[in-house]
Amino acid sequence: MILLDGKTTSSDIKDEITLEVLQLKKEGKKTPHLAAVIVGNNGASRTYVGAKVKACNRVGFLSTLIELTDDTTEASLLSKIDELNNNIEIDGFIVQLPLPKHIDEQKVLMAVDPKKDVDGFHPTNVGKMALNLPTFISATPYGILELLERYKVETSGKHVVVIGRSHIVGSPMSILLSQKRTVGNATVTITHSRTRNLKEITLQADIVIAALGIPEFLTEDMVKANVTVIDVGITRVEDTTKKSGYRLLGDVAFDEVSKKAAYITPVPGGVGPMTIAMLLKNTLLASKNNN
Ligand code: NAD
Repeated sequence: MILLDGKTTSSDIKDEITLEVLQLKKEGKKTPHLAAVIVGNNGASRTYVGAKVKACNRVGFLSTLIELTDDTTEASLLSKIDELNNNIEIDGFIVQLPLPKHIDEQKVLMAVDPKKDVDGFHPTNVGKMALNLPTFISATPYGILELLERYKVETSGKHVVVIGRSHIVGSPMSILLSQKRTVGNATVTITHSRTRNLKEITLQADIVIAALGIPEFLTEDMVKANVTVIDVGITRVEDTTKKSGYRLLGDVAFDEVSKKAAYITPVPGGVGPMTIAMLLKNTLLASKNNN
């Protein structure tokens, strides 16, 4: 079994980006600048945003964190987004999801200028991605493509089964892997909560991508020998032995599935760090487009 090590790979990518930033600075070009907007006090969201800001510092980007309170109105969030769209100092920005219930998430994502939409969530960018045109690919599926590429996992002609059809992971992942691209050309089956006989389908998979958010859902009896398994899930479960009071579990029963797998991502240290690295890559692209 080979561990698809997202921690090391993302660190390599960050080193590559750091060199590019130094080169940009040498050429007198603008330093890439990412802004992140967070609304409310969700603990996991705060951790993710904190990690994104830290990653910006690591590669030499500028970063701006905009923290808004839980009771922020939709109108004032939209006006903040308008400000960021028009701020020439900011190359790209993200609005950390989920948003409080009283704010229409879709409306907010639609308000982001597609040229600054480094999360790749705007319908214009999703459309371009679906048509295999150059654009910002949303960071989690992009990170999975990159991990498969760097570990030279063959996808062409393989049967990929994606579990989960969310707009941010399952759906784009299934589209990308079916496309004619370096990591692609796969035969893809997308499955979801209404899928019948899931086990029969996953047993046919050469590659399983689990993105459903149910801890340790994918078990050893659901996969064939030498499968490649990508575990996207991150669920916090209470653990009093940890200082934080919780530990992170993926969607895959790692201990048993890893015995059968040819390649597998761990949780933590797999897809999570790759997501952050690809957000940086998208920001670098936005900045180059701006230059
Ligand atoms: P979501 O809740 O939006 O979607 C879950 C999907 O799983 C749905 O499409 C649903 O139909 C499907 N599903 C639910 N139960 C199922 C079942 N029993 N069988 C088959 N399909 C089922 O989730 P999401 O936003 O795509 O996130 C999924 C997981 O990935 C979560 O744990 C989330 O925290 C994690 N995540 C991780 C990263 C990362 O960077 N590592 C990024 C995004 C999401």
